[in-house]
Amino acid sequence: MAYKIYRHGNRKEKNIALTFDDGPHPLFTVNILKSLADHNIKATFFVTGKEAREHSELVRKIISEGHEIGNHSFSHKSMIFRSIFFLINEIEKTDKILKDIDVKGEIYFRPPYGRMDFIARMVLRKMRKKIILWNNGPKDFKCSSSEKIVDKVLKKLKPGSIIVLHDGGGDRSITVQAVEKLVPEILSRGYQFKTVSELIS
Ligand SMILES: [Zn+2]
Repeated sequence: MAYKIYRHGNRKEKNIALTFDDGPHPLFTVNILKSLADHNIKATFFVTGKEAREHSELVRKIISEGHEIGNHSFSHKSMIFRSIFFLINEIEKTDKILKDIDVKGEIYFRPPYGRMDFIARMVLRKMRKKIILWNNGPKDFKCSSSEKIVDKVLKKLKPGSIIVLHDGGGDRSITVQAVEKLVPEILSRGYQFKTVSELIS
């Protein structure tokens, strides 16, 4: 296990990873899980420590259905211009919460807003963390309709894509609708859904 930043997987194979940030949420995450189960596909959820601690039963449900869990910081505060103490605490506290909920194996990290400064990178390097960013982010939280989210994702869809959507942090009803439409469409284009660890292995 070594520090590395990933924005996509192998660009030659028609595999992609669907990832969700900022949850888990008792309504939106559960609805997304239903869509994923309908198509028997696996995804990766980058949860905040705060939400994971509050909805630990939901984290267990995500794992039990075969999906992966990643660390998206504890509080979702920006990691820019922070002290080393703050950064280590945000990452380690969340890892501990996740391990206590029975998340197994290496826990990948995704910084809030996908942003890290020199200090944050240094801290993560020392922790030998794998950082998972993305190359397909439709900014679903700014989209006015599920169709817009679907269009944006499909336009940028390529082998190895890491797609990021949001299952928490606000009203994600249209993201839930977008997932329902996106999954069958991506499958019909011949892509396979992988978890992040499968995509980057
Ligand atoms: Zn986030």
